[in-house]
Order: sequence, then structure tokens, then C-alpha cells
Amino acid sequence: MQLRKLSAKLRGVFACLLCWPWLSIGAPEVVVSIKPVHSLIAGVMAGVGTPELLIGNTQTPHEISLSPSAVRKLSRADRVYWIGQALETPMAKIVSATVEESKSVELLLLPGMVSLWTRESGLWDAHAHSDRHGDHGRFPHQQGDNQNNARNMDPHIWLSPVNAGRIVQFAVQDLSRVDAENADKYSRNGEALLARIQTLDLEIGKRLLAVNDLPYIVFHDAYAYFERHYGLNAVGSLSVSSERMPGMRRIQLLRDRIKQLNARCVFSEPQFEPGVVSTLLEGTQAHGGRLDPLGADLPPGPDAYFLMMRNLADALVECLG
Ligand SMILES: [Zn+2]
Repeated sequence: MQLRKLSAKLRGVFACLLCWPWLSIGAPEVVVSIKPVHSLIAGVMAGVGTPELLIGNTQTPHEISLSPSAVRKLSRADRVYWIGQALETPMAKIVSATVEESKSVELLLLPGMVSLWTRESGLWDAHAHSDRHGDHGRFPHQQGDNQNNARNMDPHIWLSPVNAGRIVQFAVQDLSRVDAENADKYSRNGEALLARIQTLDLEIGKRLLAVNDLPYIVFHDAYAYFERHYGLNAVGSLSVSSERMPGMRRIQLLRDRIKQLNARCVFSEPQFEPGVVSTLLEGTQAHGGRLDPLGADLPPGPDAYFLMMRNLADALVECLG
């Protein structure tokens, strides 16, 4: 077992030695906060260089702490792409202290993004990680608002394929400014990615038609962009700690909510203890499923975004269907 692990590691090291360094010579140094966006940027940069992924699998963007070496990467970067204060809240201060303003790109503020307010009505428990969100209903609106509004926006923007396309288009233009020599490559990669996103979108839309009306509940209200784009019927969220089992009274309350909302499925995420989910579902008609909005289990790289989106659709169809 150990030997097998070691040889897999060595293979990985050799693969890295063979392919990465020559790609990176002269390429701009780009840091991206979360894996799905890193994947899109890696696609734009294919054949030129490899962006750095800042937040690994064991951290959630809402609660990151950055190591000194991560902070050094930020300070040297030609570009830092992140969602913004509403998502990677602890990053905001560090970015403003270490990254020149012209090199930091808050994707939530890009013009042309589809953006939604956070939803926190009775059926949507306050977003588990952050107290920044205001008490809004759910209104779609076009971006172009100020920083203040950005704080009250649902930051999980990458789960809309329209926004994924927008991020790609922006990165093509932006990286071409930083590294004009490779502008043609960025542009060709961008075209290919946009076509791939369109195919993905059509495929997922078709696949989800079968489960569009079926009510479900999530543990982390991260999916509004996905739900709105594909017309899904999410009926609420429950805030549950990912590590601790809720007390008996809270469990009873949550079970009543699941029954009252007639939820067919309750979706947790990779960081949740499976025991918490199965305890909650006892005595209800709901099934348990798992959604992974960050692709926590996937290797980083150009395919991660596409796999993450397909996995979301698969998980929904599997549990609801
Ligand atoms: Zn979140």
C-alpha cells in the first residue's frame, strides 16, 4: 500500500518535472482563489503557464487562513483573481495590504455578471459562514452597483455558466494586457472554452429537465445561480454545523422543516459528517445526497470546472430522480 502510494507520488513528481517548468518560463504569475475559477483561468492560460491555486481542498473560502508563503505568492503575482469580500472574507484585508489595486481582480464586481442578492427569508437559513449578508429577498439584477451592494450579493457566482463565460472573456482580455506576446493563445483558448461551456450548459439543462419540479433542501445556500439558471425547485436551506451533531431539540425542528417543505432530498457537502445527515433524515420521507460546489474532490486544472458542474447535475438527478 505504502509502496504504491510512494510510486504514485514519484510518478506525479516526474510528470511535474517534465511538463510544468518549461510552460511557466516568462508566463505571467497568476494566483486564483478557488478551484472552479482556477480551472477556467488554467484553461485560458493553457500552453502558456499554470496559475496558482490559493485555497486547497481542506479549506472553505469563507473561512480561509493564508500561510506566509501564500501571502508571498499574492504579493509577487501579476494578477490575483478572487470572487470578493463576500466570499473569501478573510482575504480582503490581506489583498488590500499586499496586492497593488490594479493587480487584484474581484470577479463579483465585473461588469456583465449575472448577480443575485443573498436570500434569507424564513425558508432560507442565514448563510452559514458569514454575517455580512443583508436581509434581502431574492432579486436578480445586473451588476454595475457599488462595493456596498457587493457585500449583500450572493457570492457563489461561478455556478452560473453565463458567469463562467464572462470570467473567461474577461481573463482573455486581461491576460492579453499583462502578456501581449501570448494574446493570440489566450484568445484561441478562450474561444475553445466558451464553446465547451456552451456544450456543458446544453447538456446539463437537458439532464435536469427530468427533475425540475422536485423540491429539495440544501445545507449551504450556495446554489442560487445554478438553480435559477436551470429552473430548479430548491425550497430552503438548513444551517447545520459540518462537524457537530445538533442537539435533539434542534434535530426535531430540522426534521419538521424537512417534512413541512415536502423535500424529496436533503443535500449536504463534502465537509459534513455523514452521520449528521442520516440522523436528520430519520423519520422523514427525504433521501440524502451530496453536492460539491467547489470540486473539493477533483484534481485542479482545466477540466475541474466542467467535472464539478456535471457532478452537481448528476447528484441532483441521482437523488431526486
Ligand atoms: Zn458559501
